[in-house]
Amino acid sequence: MSSGSRVPMSAETAAFLRREQRLFIGGERVAARDGGRIEVLNPATGGPLAQVSAAGAADIDAAVAAARAAFSNGPWPAMGPSARGQLLWRLADLLEAHAPTLTELEILDNGMPLDPAGMLAVPTAVKILRYFSGWPSKLGGQTLPADRRPGAASPALTYTRREPVGVVGQIIPWNYPLAMAAMKLAPALATGCTVVLKPDEKTPLSALFLIDLLVEAGVPPGVVNIVPGFGETAGAAIAAHPGIDKVAFTGSGEVGRKIVAAATGNLKRVSLELGGKNPFIVFADADLDRAIEAATRSAFFLQGQNCQCASRLFVHEAVAAPFTAGLAAAAQALPLGPGWDPRTRIGPLISAGQLERVAGYVELGRKEGARLVTGGGPRPGPGYFLPPTVFADIQPGMAIAREEIFGPVTGIQTFGDRDLDGLAAQANDSEYGLVASVWTRDLGTAHRFAEALRAGVVGINHHGGGDIHAPFGGYRQSGWGREFGAENLDLYLETKTVVVRYD
Ligand code: ADP
Repeated sequence: MSSGSRVPMSAETAAFLRREQRLFIGGERVAARDGGRIEVLNPATGGPLAQVSAAGAADIDAAVAAARAAFSNGPWPAMGPSARGQLLWRLADLLEAHAPTLTELEILDNGMPLDPAGMLAVPTAVKILRYFSGWPSKLGGQTLPADRRPGAASPALTYTRREPVGVVGQIIPWNYPLAMAAMKLAPALATGCTVVLKPDEKTPLSALFLIDLLVEAGVPPGVVNIVPGFGETAGAAIAAHPGIDKVAFTGSGEVGRKIVAAATGNLKRVSLELGGKNPFIVFADADLDRAIEAATRSAFFLQGQNCQCASRLFVHEAVAAPFTAGLAAAAQALPLGPGWDPRTRIGPLISAGQLERVAGYVELGRKEGARLVTGGGPRPGPGYFLPPTVFADIQPGMAIAREEIFGPVTGIQTFGDRDLDGLAAQANDSEYGLVASVWTRDLGTAHRFAEALRAGVVGINHHGGGDIHAPFGGYRQSGWGREFGAENLDLYLETKTVVVRYD
């Protein structure tokens, strides 16, 4: 780490961090009713960054009441689709105008390096907002043929309307806070819902910065309520709340299950974007340099704290040695450091708890008999750093080959020609099914595996979800529903059938 413990930041960022950070409910900034607070830490130093109000159950009640009032009365339901679209577009403009501060807040709060923060924070959020700004005017229904019975009064016309599902609770994680907030808010607002958004307690700052921008963009009071708070209190209150019509969650499977259970009270709609243990399959004929470069990026992007990361590398035995050596060399060349140092490629993990958890998996991998090729335990000193770590000689039954680690740790297992028939089944043998990729120059192999792999996104000589206009989500325990693309809107819409009699 070159910058020692001094944390560089702009005057605007420093001024924002000095502000009292309150909840945003019904268009007002309010302190938590029970005085609850969160101490937000800088993961690169372990030092304090900001004090933020922590919503309790009573604050969630107030936020839901405000969202319900804004959904039912006032300017929001009266606003036409074009106006809603313009509002999202204006919000994107405002994000761009404040890009340096928002990027700095993401780096300080989450720990992500400037590369990728420069691309992932503001440009991604802006792209999401602009994409969804075009949708409100296109949410039409259908006109359907109606059966007429001779001599009887019968319907003459049937049509459908797409209507907003209502008040939406959105619970998001810490791994890319700003883009995640945009990903949740944009489709909800495009469809005319109102929102209670709970950022993660570890990374609430960019969502709190958004408050001023929402107001400036003209979002009416109560339409978006921002309530940082702890999962077991604020999150659980959202999931169980009888006044919430739908909950959208991104995070761990463990919490996803709790949310599903809590949602049964009023049978609210639930969408989930959960984990992945994503296969990355390298055939003997692959372009090895490209595959190594992509495996490095995909395994260690955001310190491996992302659901798409390439965490199960299946490599043909004919190319396993050069692939392993190439990946190890590329991993060793990634400089570790604080996100604000432009040389950094691997920032800190999000918290001391996450560092301990990931280090525990490295230890477990060793005990299970996997071969540590590079990396290993935590780096001593301040902050939560662990170097990019590669295991070889992975066996499919090992815990490190099955469980989502959510850290910069990946593992290589080899296959031979004799294993080809069972390879797709082996790749599918996971409780998850989010992302998969195949690396080959053979068209037949590529498309055969695209069909056989049971995952929400399959890459051919590419790994990871594509653009905002393509659906993203998982099979099996990777989630329920699809975000991005037109399918995302379905999560926030009800379909109403209208039946009309002429006589
Ligand atoms: P991680 O374990 O990686 O921190 P989580 O799935 O625990 O990820 O957290 C994702 C989001 O879920 C956060 O906003 C967190 O506050 C919230 N959360 C945690 N526990 C609960 C819960 N019991 N009910 C609702 N939300 C929760």
